[in-house]
Amino acid sequence: MDRPVNLLDFDPDALAAWCEGQGEKRFRARQVLRWVHQRGASDFASMSDLAKSLRAALEANAALCALPVCSEQVSADGTTKWLLDVGAGNAVECVYIPEPGRGTLCVSSQAGCAVGCRFCSTGRQGFSRNLRTGEIVAQLWQAEHTLRRRLGLADGERAITNVVMMGMGEPLQNYDALVPALKLMLDDHAYGLSRRRVTVSTSGVVPMIDRLRADCPVALAVSLHASDDALRDQLVPINRKYPIRELLDACARYLAAAPRDFITVEYCMLDGVNDSPAQARALAALLVGRVRAKVNLIPFNPFPDSGFDCSPRGRVLEFAAVLHAAGLVTTLRKTRGDDIAAACGQLAGEVRDRTNAKARHARAPIRIRPEEARA
Ligand code: SAH
Ligand code: SF4
Repeated sequence: MDRPVNLLDFDPDALAAWCEGQGEKRFRARQVLRWVHQRGASDFASMSDLAKSLRAALEANAALCALPVCSEQVSADGTTKWLLDVGAGNAVECVYIPEPGRGTLCVSSQAGCAVGCRFCSTGRQGFSRNLRTGEIVAQLWQAEHTLRRRLGLADGERAITNVVMMGMGEPLQNYDALVPALKLMLDDHAYGLSRRRVTVSTSGVVPMIDRLRADCPVALAVSLHASDDALRDQLVPINRKYPIRELLDACARYLAAAPRDFITVEYCMLDGVNDSPAQARALAALLVGRVRAKVNLIPFNPFPDSGFDCSPRGRVLEFAAVLHAAGLVTTLRKTRGDDIAAACGQLAGEVRDRTNAKARHARAPIRIRPEEARA
């Protein structure tokens, strides 16, 4: 007998096609979506309004595969981090960040990451594999329904109002699994999130930014972290393939289809590396007039042996003031969950690295002279 299909792998169209393949009407898929994603049901027998024949087909040929929880940690500020087992020694992290009036889930797209940014704990760990659609969706499915029960929410109330693809991995290097997951997040019969509340964050995979614009435009965040190619080549190695100009041109094209009228530019503040007033002026010169952007300054979140320090607060404020004066809306990201290593860039999970990342990093120490950067 064939292995059962995992319903979490199916976007709305794929589920309709599967229903058709079972001899059912395509529209029945909507009922199944509502049971699974809106109500969090995992037992087909409980799906009481489904046609008997469809229930039998589900029982015989389908499954709902949750990810085993290796651990759960709750921060003093309510941020919750789950470590989820994806098999063969790999585990990914998923973080819930509660705020007044909203709940954000930070979702992983890969076990590890092949981009290898110097200041990112995930990047230092190397890469094992892409997650499947069902593994991306399972993070939301499990978190939403666990939290609803825990918070005692009524039917129809949501725990998670926003999703950011800012967990482990580079989402645009796992494009084929990402897009169906996004479609489920947006579908009214599944999670019904607005496009403005689903954000894909990327280190800058230019061709995939163009594809996302055509296939499923959601809010876009771009991890820039430097205002010149020489520095960005070192911090975010994918820059050697897609340099800053090409990346910003792709952002400008994206805006034509984007649900918001700006791109978020993420900029992690690294002491003595990318945080001088001159670098702030260069960043403003790059953005103003080329792409409507909001800059989100992220304090560097340390992890063992990172080799970087967080910029002092005064320097961050000065950097923000330069951007502000140039007319750029600039925000400072609040650090959440750092007491449980759940903040940006601290997610490490467990990765069976297949890319020998540790040895590569040891061979290539970063060469940035602080006195140059501060000029
Ligand atoms: N791979 C995607 C999304 C995951 S990382 C990307 O790079 O955009 C989410 C954000 O956290 C990115 O902007 C990333 O550059 C930033 N980040 C990585 N390491 C960090 C650290 N140690 N401190 C603060 N931010 C970090
Ligand atoms: Fe990968 Fe993003 Fe970390 Fe860079 S910052 S290594 S792209 S997860």
